[in-house]
Amino acid sequence: MSRAVSLHILPQQATHASEGQSASERPEVTSAARSTDHPRRLIDSHGRTIRDLRLSITDRCNLRCVYCMEPDVQFARRESLLSVAELLRVARQCVALGVEHIRITGGEPTVHPDLLAIIAGVAAIDGVRDVAMTTNGCLASAEALRNWKGAGLRRLTFSLDSVSEATFARMTRSNSPANSAGAVIAAIGRAVELGLGPVKVNAVIIRGQNEDEVPKLARLARAIGFEVRFIEFMPLDSGHRWDPSLLVPASEIIDRASEAGELVAHGRDADSSTSETFVFRDAPDVRIGVIAPVTRPFCGACSRLRITADGKIRPCLFSLAEVDLRSALRDVSTTDEHIEAILLDAVWSKQRGHGITAPDFRQPDRPMSAIGG
Ligand code: SAM
Ligand code: SF4
Repeated sequence: MSRAVSLHILPQQATHASEGQSASERPEVTSAARSTDHPRRLIDSHGRTIRDLRLSITDRCNLRCVYCMEPDVQFARRESLLSVAELLRVARQCVALGVEHIRITGGEPTVHPDLLAIIAGVAAIDGVRDVAMTTNGCLASAEALRNWKGAGLRRLTFSLDSVSEATFARMTRSNSPANSAGAVIAAIGRAVELGLGPVKVNAVIIRGQNEDEVPKLARLARAIGFEVRFIEFMPLDSGHRWDPSLLVPASEIIDRASEAGELVAHGRDADSSTSETFVFRDAPDVRIGVIAPVTRPFCGACSRLRITADGKIRPCLFSLAEVDLRSALRDVSTTDEHIEAILLDAVWSKQRGHGITAPDFRQPDRPMSAIGG
């Protein structure tokens, strides 16, 4: 689907590559060029180094968030999903090529029956500096949190788009008391107490759905002691309902968050950070983040690589082409060197930017849940 988008885009930082390029402007690159220039490091043709792996371990989920998964979303066949051994092999080889941080994600990673083995396996990889996980928090009982930490998980990011139960139920399409805003807020509190942090909480803000929740979430962040990160709605929903009119831009999000207290801008922690940070003037240790891929794109310093649960390499969240790794993983004659070559080539082809605002932008077929957020 192509659409013309008219949005107010802020000028980019000098270090960030141009974002609004069209698909036809993306450079053609060759593996020969890649391997001569940068042997054995995950580096792309725009000079970016990959240090962060988003490892999706399942495309299944116990919720159906309106911005992510339609109720009748098609899941991948079970046999097409990577086994624990395959997931760990990919993670190991990415680390051998310079990845330092691994985020376990999905779908909802906590519905995976072998989650503990995956966390433990990833944490045991020599060279991994950080093991984090993103979860909707519905299964984050006190016992589960202790087990995840015991297995080697360092940090948790929750998703919570609303503190109001009615809005939570509407946005997650869940009416079960077990999957409530209250249950997730309790789980966030337990994770903070347990030291699985800094605990972060993602909230996708959508016009007409939950923009009024921004100050409430900011107040909750102050009360419990987590970092809330407001995310602009991206065209990655399985219903393909994204429309510019549903976007609440970062500028408005920041204004609304200021209702919870005066904010002071702190910029990005690192060039590659997705989030711009603010702190409260009267509570400088409480951080508020804004992730604005649409109106303040940050692709120019991207350090991320995604592996889907069914074994595809996605160099970019918005990649239209994927590179198959699963066939190689399931061929007994495949050497580690061959897997490395596939990873190196895929990363070299990483597109410069997502091009959401370009006239020829095409939404990827896969929703966020099948890519790994
Ligand atoms: N199920 C887990 C969760 O919700 O935290 C992990 C996977 S989810 C796909 C990862 C993150 O992607 C969540 O924080 C979610 O809010 C975000 N996300 C999903 N669809 C999105 C969209 N269309 N635009 C922006 N963020 C989105
Ligand atoms: Fe499930 Fe997470 Fe997608 Fe919501 S955002 S439907 S919790 S995968």
